[in-house]
Amino acid sequence: MTQLAQALQQVRSKLDAAAQAAGRPAQDVQLLAVSKTFPAAAIREAYAAGQRAFGENYVQELQSKCRELADLAIEWHFIGPLQSNKSRIVAELAHWVHSVDRLKIAERLSAQRPAALSALNVCIQVNVSGEDSKSGCAPQDAPALLRAVAALPGLRVRGLMCIPEPTPDPALLAARFAVLRQLQQQMAAEGMPLDTLSMGMSADMAQAVAAGSSMVRVGTAIFGARHYPA
Ligand SMILES: *Cc1c(COP(=O)(O)O)cnc(C)c1O
Repeated sequence: MTQLAQALQQVRSKLDAAAQAAGRPAQDVQLLAVSKTFPAAAIREAYAAGQRAFGENYVQELQSKCRELADLAIEWHFIGPLQSNKSRIVAELAHWVHSVDRLKIAERLSAQRPAALSALNVCIQVNVSGEDSKSGCAPQDAPALLRAVAALPGLRVRGLMCIPEPTPDPALLAARFAVLRQLQQQMAAEGMPLDTLSMGMSADMAQAVAAGSSMVRVGTAIFGARHYPA
């Protein structure tokens, strides 16, 4: 077994154990492999080990990897900050977008989603850390944004995403994740059930699963440390 296949298996066991500890079925928690900065060959290797969903942060990288890996049945997730002038590429290539945080971006994705493709799955990114984070809509603005996005053709609203600020404090982390869970419960009570909570990364995936995550986005624990070009 390759080192990468081994790392992938370790992450899956960790998620299974976290789900079991939380009294949740293991299949409730999807693993999104975050492959940003890693070459297409690494994705091929993870694919050979059974991984199908991959997350990318940068539009250009998504584009080149989609091209290089067109022979594989990959489910592509765009999870990075999305600028208006790059939305068309994402609308044409991605199966999911986790980082919608304003109506304007959702409207562009809706208009640009090719009619021949199935609806683009969308999560609304929520800023659960207040001033410490720039991305994401404010929690109190999320319900109205969810309803507005749900009305757009070509998009399918699936849920909510967050990136809490790094913290060594487990209680603070749990409080951040709870913001998303509470919004999910609020929307269910208002007649808009959401099946996806995209939360948890390499450092906090077990806590995220305990807090109700249905999709963890894991990079480092699968592919190793990232080296950004200078
Ligand atoms: C990079 C990234 C991840 C993965 O982070 P790791 O700590 O490497 O697991 C998850 N989500 C988003 C939005 C990211 O940008």
